[in-house]
Amino acid sequence: MTYVNIVGTSNTFPISGAWVDHEMIDNYLWVLCCLRGSVWPDVDDSSSSKKNNHNNTTTATPLLPSVFITDNEKALRNAITNAFPECKQLLCYKQIKNNFKKQLLPMMKEDEDGDKRGFLDKLAGHLDQIVLKCTISEEEKKEIDAYLRFAKDNCKDQGKSAKAFLERKMHDKENWVNTYVFKHPHFGNRTSNRAESAHASLKHALGTSSGKLKTVTMKIVKCYEALRRLTTECLGESTTVVFDKINSSRLNDICHKICRFAMDHIKLELAKSIIPEKLTKECECLINYNYLLPCYHQLAQYKKISISCIPRR
Ligand SMILES: [Zn+2]
Repeated sequence: MTYVNIVGTSNTFPISGAWVDHEMIDNYLWVLCCLRGSVWPDVDDSSSSKKNNHNNTTTATPLLPSVFITDNEKALRNAITNAFPECKQLLCYKQIKNNFKKQLLPMMKEDEDGDKRGFLDKLAGHLDQIVLKCTISEEEKKEIDAYLRFAKDNCKDQGKSAKAFLERKMHDKENWVNTYVFKHPHFGNRTSNRAESAHASLKHALGTSSGKLKTVTMKIVKCYEALRRLTTECLGESTTVVFDKINSSRLNDICHKICRFAMDHIKLELAKSIIPEKLTKECECLINYNYLLPCYHQLAQYKKISISCIPRR
């Protein structure tokens, strides 16, 4: 729990888990309200929302989770809307892409080797651009046109299914298309992979799906202790980014006070700040949005980087 409200550590660490008998909205809601009550007990309602200092994205209060990523399960999404109305919900891109591939594979034409995968991967490449790369609506429109054109030429149904798939998903575009989500602090996570893999490793540690509550609880505690040790190691001074002495002295104030992940990012940003023509450009740095860390435009204003430049999370 100590680590919940700090800048990302690059490692994933679970902060809680729940055991429920059915995946229904009431159960999800109970779990989420328990989570909110124990980790963010002082944040009552959405009236405490405020704007982030560095940019104009609305990030609720800085201490609440910035985003939730789900596999588009209705009951869970509704429960999050109820328990965390201030927070942005994103859809797992891996799940969207898997569905896309499953639905579109039978529709694809075959290449000279009789293979459909090649065309499917190219079509999925256009989807990747829409979901992960485009940041302005003109780019998005261009990429959608390219997607539809490619589907028309390379699908047996002249692209009808591909068009229908995109139209269906576009009803929910605010939750997955990059143009709408790139300004949210998602720490580079656009899939639910991390939760899924934490779940898988927990299952592995348990070894069995049944057992007495006491035995299972002891196993879980042991498993989480190991994870906690791993997380503690992520804190402290960075060693991976090499830095010269003069620039290093600028970091004295934040040394040993921020996690290695944040320190590495700040060093990389500081290394950029020596390029003068980049400074004159308008700041549109994604690091502000996605990691809530200062970019080289902001860091360049300070001789010494003080701890106040780094948000709590
Ligand atoms: Zn910037």
